[in-house]
Amino acid sequence: MAHQWRGVLREYSDRLDISDKTPIITLGEGGTPLLPAPALSAMTGAKVFVKYEGMNPTGSFKDRGMTMAVSKAVEDGAKAIICASTGNTSASAAAYAAHAGITAAVLVPEGKISMGKLSQAVAHNGQLIQLKGNFDDCLDIARDLAKNYPVHLVNSVNNDRIEGQKTAAFEVVSVLEDAPDFHFLPVGNAGNYTAYSRGYAEELARGVTTKLPRMFGFQASGSAPIVLGHPVKNPDTLASAIRIGNPASWELALTARDNTNGYFGAIDDETILKAQRILSAQVGIFVEPASAISVAGLLERAEAGEIPAGSTVVLTVTGHGLKDPQWALRKEDGSQVEPTVVSVDLEEVAGVLGLVKGGLH
Ligand SMILES: *Cc1c(COP(=O)(O)O)cnc(C)c1O
Repeated sequence: MAHQWRGVLREYSDRLDISDKTPIITLGEGGTPLLPAPALSAMTGAKVFVKYEGMNPTGSFKDRGMTMAVSKAVEDGAKAIICASTGNTSASAAAYAAHAGITAAVLVPEGKISMGKLSQAVAHNGQLIQLKGNFDDCLDIARDLAKNYPVHLVNSVNNDRIEGQKTAAFEVVSVLEDAPDFHFLPVGNAGNYTAYSRGYAEELARGVTTKLPRMFGFQASGSAPIVLGHPVKNPDTLASAIRIGNPASWELALTARDNTNGYFGAIDDETILKAQRILSAQVGIFVEPASAISVAGLLERAEAGEIPAGSTVVLTVTGHGLKDPQWALRKEDGSQVEPTVVSVDLEEVAGVLGLVKGGLH
């Protein structure tokens, strides 16, 4: 039988705190493509690669951490898990809980989560509760529930999540055969920023890489607590996956930035949507808005002259475009894209397409 990717716990069992007694709850997460992006290389003069995390089983990188967190929870005898979520954590928690045969309770901010993510949580039979508050309120309640009731918290404040997510850095290193010079990624709770930093640090300690990448993290301008240096009370951005006012892994992320000569920057929503479009139309990769901030961040830093020519750059794009597809249909002036409607008529279709009879193919 041909080799099938076995999920991150089995592929990296020697690098994670699991044993023969750990039940492996996996949906085959990880092993995602690292794709060259020639259009972005041409724009920046760097060698740009995209780590396409939308290819995970529930469509976001959250699955890497969830396989670890749910496996450890089940090993500890948990019958129920809980999380706060802007959408992708709830989709992932519900799917892995369903696979394990346990219950997932998910707390999401009312009216703030995309239809795609909401439908996943419901489809996987998550116990969905919408809270009249923002993500940060959801996390406060989830933490208190886990402290006082028999439910296991699977947010990224749970170190098992970070441990599972660090495997993405291992995969990058195995393809590039060294660490990149720069790694760009979106920042919400900063769990993933922390996880990649840890993964790269472990690879350097093992002696399989020659350097640490400079870790460049980006927040949306309306939701940029780390850039501002203080929590944001009412975070606001269309990039819902990073609409976080008080990041759970703030301190860890600052340490990682300092250790890697890293950087945190902010990008406004219009620029995020432009970057999303560049990636989908010129590279062929469709991501949700939060993920596109990696692309926007690279273009901004390259424009600022901060990326030396020939540098190896990896961009993590965290979630699939089908999670929150409405933004792709929005034109720059705010109106909606409407498909052209024509009669069933060859000449008319050819005319609309600008095709000329007998012209070259
Ligand atoms: C969760 C998430 C993020 C933010 O990751 P953090 O670890 O919270 O910083 C970014 N993009 C997507 C698509 C996400 O689901």
